[in-house]
Amino acid sequence: MIPYGRQTIDDDDVQAVVAALRSDWLTTGPAVDEFERAFAASVGAKHAVAVSNGTAALHTAMHAIGIGPGDEVIVPSMTFAATANCVVFCGGTPVFADVNSDTLLLDPGAAEAKITPRTKAIIAVDYAGQPCDYGALRLIAERHHLALVDDACHALGGALGDKKVGTLADLNTFSLHPVKNMTTGEGGVITTDHPELAGSMRLFRNHGITSDHRQRNAQGSWFYEMVDLGFNYRVTDFQCALGISQLKKLDGWIARRRQIAARYEEAFHGQSTVCPLGVRPGVLHAYHLFVVQLQGENASEMRARMFAELRERGVGANVHYIPVHLHPFYLKRFSTRVGQCPIAERAYERILSLPMFPTMRDCDVDKVVTAVREVEGI
Ligand SMILES: *Cc1c(COP(=O)(O)O)cnc(C)c1O
Repeated sequence: MIPYGRQTIDDDDVQAVVAALRSDWLTTGPAVDEFERAFAASVGAKHAVAVSNGTAALHTAMHAIGIGPGDEVIVPSMTFAATANCVVFCGGTPVFADVNSDTLLLDPGAAEAKITPRTKAIIAVDYAGQPCDYGALRLIAERHHLALVDDACHALGGALGDKKVGTLADLNTFSLHPVKNMTTGEGGVITTDHPELAGSMRLFRNHGITSDHRQRNAQGSWFYEMVDLGFNYRVTDFQCALGISQLKKLDGWIARRRQIAARYEEAFHGQSTVCPLGVRPGVLHAYHLFVVQLQGENASEMRARMFAELRERGVGANVHYIPVHLHPFYLKRFSTRVGQCPIAERAYERILSLPMFPTMRDCDVDKVVTAVREVEGI
């Protein structure tokens, strides 16, 4: 079975982790600092804060910008639930905005229409790995004095014009789960150019305590103070050792993802039923996912059949995502309703994520294309 996504782990990754395991520090040691510096440098941001996963990165970001009870944060409905959940963790209310039908990226006009006096921030999601329209989103955020956050969990390695993903918003969050563009097993990172926000996020991931064990050890001191309420969102040294090793290979993997996408694009070009998502001009797409929309009257039934028949043929497709406002938790707790984001809801009926990962060979891509063609003919 060709899965929809898969990590790449080489011998040098294994060696890096083993070396960290044999070192003095299993957690919050030198590898964390080194990984943060390398990550910040690779995206061109001033600061990177490493945490235990992408959801923790989002929670940490929401805390840093001061989201609390009564605050509203605008999020796209076409995303993973954690994008909205992080607002709820802080007592705020996620307000769902619709997406563009061609790219499934947050529609800036739809986001602006949801702004109220209680709105504090917009979280844009670089769905599938394509950066959103940050030119428009930045103007809206400035006009209404809102924080702009990029949930860049799909888009590490991407860019918009000459700016890399990780520098496009005030805070930019990443996941390093095995299915994402690089991995630390579980892991997350937030990048920012704001030193105060970086400092507040470093506190938040360590119980709100002003120093860590290694710093106190170096200073020969036992004294510490807790100055804020925080969590334990730390990441281990051996995970960061893996991250340092993986980061060196990221550009090559993104290049391969883009080649695979180009092969799919060529195969499906001018085709009537299987239509890849649109790509905006000026974008360097990081292709975490390769998403197609099925066209036609019976797209929903076609999608169900395509999903099942592809599995029969050894191709593991997937669906990203059920619009978040349709999950029972949001319907009940926030009284969201069907019809609230019609474009995301309609897209959900017809989207399919085809296999996409750097170690896919051309013959694997061709196998997927052939399987899709066969199912179309049924
Ligand atoms: C993966 C993902 C997350 C959550 O990351 P975890 O590391 O799994 O917690 C959040 N948002 C988006 C868009 C994601 O794809």
